[in-house]
Amino acid sequence: MSATGGCLCGKIRYTLKAEPALTVVCHCTHCQKASGSAFSTNLVIQRADIDFTGDMASYDDTADSGNTLKRSFCPKCGASIMSESSGRPGSAVLKAGTLDDPSVVKPTMQIWTRSAQPWVKLEGEMKSMEMGR
Ligand SMILES: [Zn+2]
Ligand SMILES: [Zn+2]
Repeated sequence: MSATGGCLCGKIRYTLKAEPALTVVCHCTHCQKASGSAFSTNLVIQRADIDFTGDMASYDDTADSGNTLKRSFCPKCGASIMSESSGRPGSAVLKAGTLDDPSVVKPTMQIWTRSAQPWVKLEGEMKSMEMGR
């Protein structure tokens, strides 16, 4: 898959040094707010396997699961880049829409389907969970 990406304005750039362990679509209400869209598409990868250039701003969110979720974004253009959960130290969730070529992403799981918008029907072999994982 494509191993580089960045924010809308180009201040934040990153390179992935490993393949993501999982690609997960999240329909939770907080991802809807943070992305301004119906769901987020997330690459689960070790934080140490992402090389960033540029300083991100962050917001400590409380996820639907109850964990503290540090949501990082570009301070200039506001693009959501990554989140890190207090429940999974060392693990990062990268927003797949920020890849230079997001078309390589193949989600294998969708979570929080109980808050999915009724018009969202995803195709492909995908494990579905009503809540988080
Ligand atoms: Zn930016
Ligand atoms: Zn979510």
